[in-house]
Amino acid sequence: MKLQSYTPNMGTIVCRSCDAVLQTFPAEKVTTLYSFCDSHCKSRNSSAVSIKR
Ligand SMILES: [Zn+2]
Repeated sequence: MKLQSYTPNMGTIVCRSCDAVLQTFPAEKVTTLYSFCDSHCKSRNSSAVSIKR
């Protein structure tokens, strides 16, 4: 039996404005990307969307 490598969802996309977790994705270490959620925050900050690494 072979062990498959498992990548946990340690990546998180967080709304810069309201701190809501928008999405998680597989990452080997804790990674946080910042964006704005699709509802009110994105339209309110439409000119300021950026992703920080
Ligand atoms: Zn938001």
